Amino acid sequence: MVSSSVLGFPRIGESANREVKKAVEAYWAGKISADDLTKAAADVKKASWESVKAHGVDYVPSGEFSLYDHVLDHSAAFNVIPKRYQGLGLSPLDVYFAMGRGRQSEGVDVPASEMKKWFDSNYHFVVPEFSDETDFKLNFNKAVEEFKEAQSHGINTRPVVLGPVSFLVLGKASKEAKPGFQPISLLPKLLPLYKTLLADLKAAGAEWVQVDEPVLVLDSAAGLEKEFTTAYTELSPVAPKILLTTYFSRLDSNLNYVAKLPVAGLHIDLDRAPGQLDEVLAAIKPTNVILSLGVVSGRNIWKTDFDVAIKLGQKAIDTLGTDRVIVATSSSLLHTPVTLASENKLTEAQKDWFAFALEKAAEVSTIASVLSGSQDPAVAAALEANKVSIAKRRDFEKNSDDTVRKRVASITPDQLERQSPFSVRKDIQAKHLNLPKFPTTTIGSFPQTKEIRQARAKLNKKEITEAEYEAFIKKEIESVVRFQERIGLDLLVHGEPERNDMVQYFGELLNGFVFTQNAWVQSYGSRYVRPPIIVSDVSRPGPITVKWSSYAQSLTKLPMKGMLTGPVTILNWSFPRADVSRELQSKQLALALRDEVIDLEKAGISAVQVDEPAIREGLPLRRADWDGYLKWAVDSFKLATAGVTDNLQTHSHFCYSDFDDIFPSIQRLDADVISIEASKADMKLLNTFKQYGYSNQIGPGVYDIHSPRVPGGQEIKDRLKSMLDILPDSLLFVNPDCGLKTRGWKETESSLVNLVEAAKWARQNY
Ligand code: GLN
Ligand code: ZN
Repeated sequence: MVSSSVLGFPRIGESANREVKKAVEAYWAGKISADDLTKAAADVKKASWESVKAHGVDYVPSGEFSLYDHVLDHSAAFNVIPKRYQGLGLSPLDVYFAMGRGRQSEGVDVPASEMKKWFDSNYHFVVPEFSDETDFKLNFNKAVEEFKEAQSHGINTRPVVLGPVSFLVLGKASKEAKPGFQPISLLPKLLPLYKTLLADLKAAGAEWVQVDEPVLVLDSAAGLEKEFTTAYTELSPVAPKILLTTYFSRLDSNLNYVAKLPVAGLHIDLDRAPGQLDEVLAAIKPTNVILSLGVVSGRNIWKTDFDVAIKLGQKAIDTLGTDRVIVATSSSLLHTPVTLASENKLTEAQKDWFAFALEKAAEVSTIASVLSGSQDPAVAAALEANKVSIAKRRDFEKNSDDTVRKRVASITPDQLERQSPFSVRKDIQAKHLNLPKFPTTTIGSFPQTKEIRQARAKLNKKEITEAEYEAFIKKEIESVVRFQERIGLDLLVHGEPERNDMVQYFGELLNGFVFTQNAWVQSYGSRYVRPPIIVSDVSRPGPITVKWSSYAQSLTKLPMKGMLTGPVTILNWSFPRADVSRELQSKQLALALRDEVIDLEKAGISAVQVDEPAIREGLPLRRADWDGYLKWAVDSFKLATAGVTDNLQTHSHFCYSDFDDIFPSIQRLDADVISIEASKADMKLLNTFKQYGYSNQIGPGVYDIHSPRVPGGQEIKDRLKSMLDILPDSLLFVNPDCGLKTRGWKETESSLVNLVEAAKWARQNY
């Protein structure tokens, strides 16, 4: 028999109600007790286990549930608790949350730990901190506790544990660590605790354990053969049967040693890397290893094409036999929303295209039944229904927008290039914009106040008219413009009050997107996002931002900077189509934005910023795939921004500054000005610019907007000074390091006043 499995489930609770998110936030606000929180979590876990089981899944996951982050759970369980969170007189639960989100209360003032993106997803994990002093202890055994919890509801689960090698490799050396310390050096110290953890699981009656080692899909795992061999040779004898679990990319040459590890099962991602199946089959054929096939995507929201999944499954069966094959989700379903059942606004035809977490649970079960040769009429019906749905979706795709397709097909190389090189444009723009030396500007948004959010909510509830809302937004824009004039900024922005979100706003005004009511996906902690879904060819029915930007420009003689979200960022922060490439979708978005940039110039705007904070995070996990991605990602930006005259000053913004390794691509964007996060980073990055002889203009953020702290005037001057030690003064813009939407007005005003003062000082001294 082929069995079915799910690797992990969303933790939010029932999607429309979001019980866990709400309970966690209520606990933080002191509105409910720790017991209430535990109870709320227990109810959600029980409901999830039961519904996954009810959808016919054989291996139901447990232990991957989390109140904040599963990596943080591991750190807390293994006592990997940085010194700054110890001895504060907090309960273990409060220490846990303090590590995740910082804490400021009753004399306690600790910042949050660093968060990092979980591989190439939009989920962020809390980075464990290790040093030689790390005092591993098994504070609690969450895997056993939740296994038993599920058991008490009559559900036999397959517990999930983050593997020891990934746990260490995903962490970093703490501040206290000796220079050159590598977390992986702690493996011998950590393994005995994993042995206890896994042995306890076995004693509790777990037959299998899913041990996640996602680092196995990274290039860097090539150097970890010894560590993996040691770890699994030690763990296997005491543990339940281990399903070594990889996801998000392919094993590649790491397969050479992975296939030899003494584990009972191996899970591979065939959604992201279907091409690896043959190699894996050949490698494990002579062993007894069971193969778990990740054929139902844990990363997108599209219905699985059963035909494709069944072919892959059959191939595996032909080599290994039915008893050695499991049908699974490609990764945890953490990255998908809970259920389509809570969507009431999508049309029936649209709903028929999608499968969210619960629907995916049903999918693995059906595919496994088909592969087992089930004669159940319900299975045959599900198979038939899938054929019909997939065919309908294909039909819809065929009717996609021919004009857009043709336009993409006829993109020419000269459309990617500005009329003149930057050296020529620079002087033209200097005259056109008439900016002083060290021009001051901001990244786009100004505080999104309660009033702004209320006005939007009222419009959505139809409590105010479109005209009333528009008048309100115009008033906001006017006050932001007057504010900037008053404090003396040089290149103004309109403040983005009309935007609910930098991606959703554009999605709503473009063709080709649909939006959900409850399709929440965890970003980090209690923060969830509802990504737009790209369902068909993207085009621009009409101008998007021109109205606001030109209104803002009409209020002032100073130059106004238009503000757009870039094609790659819109794509990366949406659920993309699965039927066409990301490249095609990105180019379609780029063409729509190109028209917008051209229209902005026509409307009298002389600078346009196209934000691309997601370019870097879209990088494929395997380096071999980087060039291909960077080619179309950079081309898309160029396509969006190069359709204008030399007069128009193009800006781009990235919220990060670690791009040493992709610098040539940043250079190739050929934006007239790029603004980056640099207030926290040392000057290493600016040296990279220097080393590459970067000659376009740069606005390295002079203060950190992620905290309410006001930077002093002297502090900003000092920062400018050290920047000017490296960069030529003619290239420098002066700006904060990101948008101000999450800030209050008070600190915004004080900070920007100091920023303007520092720029004036620089004009006198350089
Ligand atoms: N223009 C956007 C803003 O100022 C940029 C946001 C971002 O980079 N994440 O909010
Ligand atoms: Zn930013």
